[in-house]
Amino acid sequence: MPVDFSSTYSFSDVDEFARASEIKVGAGYVYTRWGNPTIDSFEAAVAELEGAPHAEAFASGMAAITTTILALCGSGDRIVAARQLYGGTHEFFSNVLPRYGIKAELFDVKDLDDIERALDGARLLYCETIGNPRVKVADLESLGGMARAAGVALVVDSTFASPVLCRPMELGASAVVHSATKFLGGHHDLLGGVVCASEEVIEPVRALAREFGAIIAPFTAWLALRGMQTLPLRVERACASARAVAEALEDHPAIGAVFYPALESSEDKDLCDSLLGGRGGGVLAFDVSGGRDRARSFQEKLRVIKPAASLGGSHSLIVHAASVTHTQLSPQELAAAGISEGFCRLSVGLEDPADVIADLYEALDASGSA
Ligand SMILES: *Cc1c(COP(=O)(O)O)cnc(C)c1O
Repeated sequence: MPVDFSSTYSFSDVDEFARASEIKVGAGYVYTRWGNPTIDSFEAAVAELEGAPHAEAFASGMAAITTTILALCGSGDRIVAARQLYGGTHEFFSNVLPRYGIKAELFDVKDLDDIERALDGARLLYCETIGNPRVKVADLESLGGMARAAGVALVVDSTFASPVLCRPMELGASAVVHSATKFLGGHHDLLGGVVCASEEVIEPVRALAREFGAIIAPFTAWLALRGMQTLPLRVERACASARAVAEALEDHPAIGAVFYPALESSEDKDLCDSLLGGRGGGVLAFDVSGGRDRARSFQEKLRVIKPAASLGGSHSLIVHAASVTHTQLSPQELAAAGISEGFCRLSVGLEDPADVIADLYEALDASGSA
């Protein structure tokens, strides 16, 4: 697919122009905020991977999430959401939606009974397939069943899983969102988002996307399509490497706990087998004993792994939560959120896993005694 950079398309026939301007897919290309052939190709590819009838692409994952939620909810509505959320989504639910009269109630993703009770009268159920930051897996089959029974739309952020590990639409989700910045793009060189959805859900999302205008750029869509050619290879490799890294970290005396769904020791092992085909994804988390100081000096000694935001790409990236993503929280609040002062999130890239493990061991050993 070539990149079609045009912002607009010309017509020699006014009737044809008028017909193409009717707001419906396939009517023809008029203006790139309404539709573009390169963007359409990207949307069609993601929809096919997710087993969804339609997809709509956005300038970022956050644009996909916020537009989808505002398309489905209005003033007076209530959202039931898992508490294990990407930081930007958590902020949107807690501090932005209330200003527009939309309330979000947050539950631990494992508290299925509480979630089921809260669904009565709710407008939307929202969760992440593998949630931030402790990579807890959502029981999508149960949540999908509950949402269907309650007549509530289930929206799943499946960024950490990618469509290679799981296809939430098949389990009852009404929409699946991705930050294409992560696994879909895969090379730390683009920012994009996409939502896959049923006919019923995509219509209002598409209409609002045109109004809000946070659409993906054609070149970005092309880059994402190119990244997706290797998606299954990259995801399988990241899963295999992340598992090897998680197992190696469990053996290091300076590591308190390792969180990774495919580990034998994980509370999510069974769910990982049934939902994700036994693959835990490319992201793991762990506690460095010795708290904040040791976690920081350990990160500064890493040479292969880079301290950086983002995940799901070719390079291994690490984040120390207490220094970067959860800076506002006191030690007590961190503890309440289940995050120790030494808590780190690691996205394992495509390097030789032996190099990643050696890097972690050398940096841990050089950062002092446990
Ligand atoms: C990165 C991320 C987002 C936000 O995506 P952007 O492309 O950065 O806007 C949303 N959800 C999850 C799970 C993410 O990892």
